[in-house]
Amino acid sequence: MTQATSQRSVLLVVEDRGHKGKHVVTTMPFRAGAVVLQVTGHHAVPVANRFTVQAGVGTHLAGIGPLTFMNHSCAPNVFINTPDMTVTAIRDIAAGEELSFFYPSTEWQMAEPFDCHCGASSCIGRVAGAVNLPDDILSRYLLNQHIQALRRTP
Ligand SMILES: [Zn+2]
Repeated sequence: MTQATSQRSVLLVVEDRGHKGKHVVTTMPFRAGAVVLQVTGHHAVPVANRFTVQAGVGTHLAGIGPLTFMNHSCAPNVFINTPDMTVTAIRDIAAGEELSFFYPSTEWQMAEPFDCHCGASSCIGRVAGAVNLPDDILSRYLLNQHIQALRRTP
């Protein structure tokens, strides 16, 4: 079994009839910095939707496997590095934990904004993409190159 296959198999898409809906849980622990998932088989689509991840200034990816159902958190435990679509742990993660990422770290302007109820003390409230967030909030997070580039564009 390849490493990528074994890593993918430890992530479960779980259906919750409550407010969360589908979300992603890991069945094994990860150390901070570890690769949780290498996304392969994705393809670019012209327009963002709630199931895509933005990977460049005008690039949105579909066919992203478990990432399709990974929830946003304002206190995330993974980061998606979009140039190579590697998902890494940004802190130690226990077996059984839900995996979440900070949507504005990939999304400049979201197709379907929503109000966040993640419960983090740092919760940003309305999640609509990086375009709507001030620098003092964005500077707390890891951000992808295309988000950094768009921030610098007047
Ligand atoms: Zn939040």
